[in-house]
Amino acid sequence: MSAVRAPRPPRYGALSLLRHGLSGREWPRAWADAPLRGSYDVVIIGGGVHGLACAYYLAVNHGITSVAVLDKGYIGGGGSGRSTAILRSNYLTPEGVRFYDRSMELYRTLAAELDYNVMFSRRGHLTLAHNDSSLRTMRWRAEVNQLQGVDSQVIDPAEIKRLVPYLDVSARTRYPILGALYHPPGGIIRHDAVVWGYARGASARGVHIHQNTEVTGIDVTGGRVRAVHTTRGEIATQTVLNATAGWSTLVAALAGVRLPIQTFPLQAAVTEPVRPFLDAVVVSGTLHVYVSQTDRGELVFGASVDPFAAYSTRGSLEFAEGLATHIVELMPALSKMRLLRQWGGLCDMTPDFSPIMGGTEVEGFYVDVGWGTYGFKAGPVSGEAMAQCLATGTTPEIISTFGLGRFTDGSLVGEKGAAAVGH
Ligand SMILES: Cc1cc2nc3c(=O)[nH]c(=O)nc-3n(C[C@H](O)[C@H](O)[C@H](O)COP(=O)(O)OP(=O)(O)OC[C@H]3O[C@@H](n4cnc5c(N)ncnc54)[C@H](O)[C@@H]3O)c2cc1C
Repeated sequence: MSAVRAPRPPRYGALSLLRHGLSGREWPRAWADAPLRGSYDVVIIGGGVHGLACAYYLAVNHGITSVAVLDKGYIGGGGSGRSTAILRSNYLTPEGVRFYDRSMELYRTLAAELDYNVMFSRRGHLTLAHNDSSLRTMRWRAEVNQLQGVDSQVIDPAEIKRLVPYLDVSARTRYPILGALYHPPGGIIRHDAVVWGYARGASARGVHIHQNTEVTGIDVTGGRVRAVHTTRGEIATQTVLNATAGWSTLVAALAGVRLPIQTFPLQAAVTEPVRPFLDAVVVSGTLHVYVSQTDRGELVFGASVDPFAAYSTRGSLEFAEGLATHIVELMPALSKMRLLRQWGGLCDMTPDFSPIMGGTEVEGFYVDVGWGTYGFKAGPVSGEAMAQCLATGTTPEIISTFGLGRFTDGSLVGEKGAAAVGH
């Protein structure tokens, strides 16, 4: 792969705002339309946060700009644009905590890095325990988190009430709250801004982003990738990254690779905006719900995946009913709020609730998949690590335990205790 010094995009800022305002000049498009070339050093399939972050870090960290990001729809149109965009690193395994915490570190400075307001907002994150066994898991997670230097502790109902006054912490409820895992650095971000910021940064450095370009075939000869076929023509390449989340098994099958992944729908919903009253992100695994409030005042709700594997992104009445029931159990004061809309996305679930990153048995065919219900927060770190993997042909230490091989040698990275409620 040829490495060149990548240029920086023109800066957004007060001066350029003034200049554009006075001159009446149009802002340049955030990312350019480029002709589809017959060959690229790297082809990334999937224009979500993972594919675009990898393209960005390939250009910025490794000077590799002969890169095409292909998406069958529009960028961010998959899970990335449907995510509730909750960020945290309070996972259960040391490998998971280290990995997601590097992403938090990158997210904290991402607006400055991309020169794009991604609206990162540190809120504090509470995972409620409604029974003794969840409290035990919270204590376990707190210990692992603290050993990895992550701010995380178990707090009692009085402290929970102080942080979230509208929560019913009384003993009268059907599922009384016994405590919570409190993770102060957790927060939310603007999902589409992250996608657009990475796209703009990558495009300015020479990466080609091709929307409405579906990959329909992958040529593999002699055990190595040679080309991809798309709805707009063939592209010769030696390196392909599959970053297609909910569609990842279908794309891997084009290269003859089987993945231990099943695709499940995940739904979310948002209310009308109200005056800010909820700082923290609140999660209840027992009730299968979580809630946060956006800067505009809407409450964003999420849940666990639908109980069947499917490629449907339709919202269902069952989801809305179950969600409303459980949220009102937690915060009775919300009973009069109106839902504005609900939506669904696809989640690529692995058996151990951890992602799969790295090479496959087909030389030149890499995967960045298995993001389930929790992959948005990992966009920056997996982009950074996968770019290094593609550029150097070696596996960075931070993702070394997440390889596809763990499903044959039995070294799973069990994160179910920290990732079962989708966020
Ligand atoms: C409702 C919901 C809420 C969520 N909430 C959170 C959360 O709070 N926090 C969190 O961390 N994660 C959350 N997630 C999970 C997170 O959104 C995903 O794990 C993450 O966005 C996956 O990103 P990605 O870039 O890998 O894939 P995606 O964003 O899904 O992008 C994959 C892209 O591949 C394209 N594609 C597919 N097949 C082809 C093909 N053959 N050719 C070309 N392109 C193709 C698709 O069009 C799509 O745009 C949530 C997910 C959902 C659905």
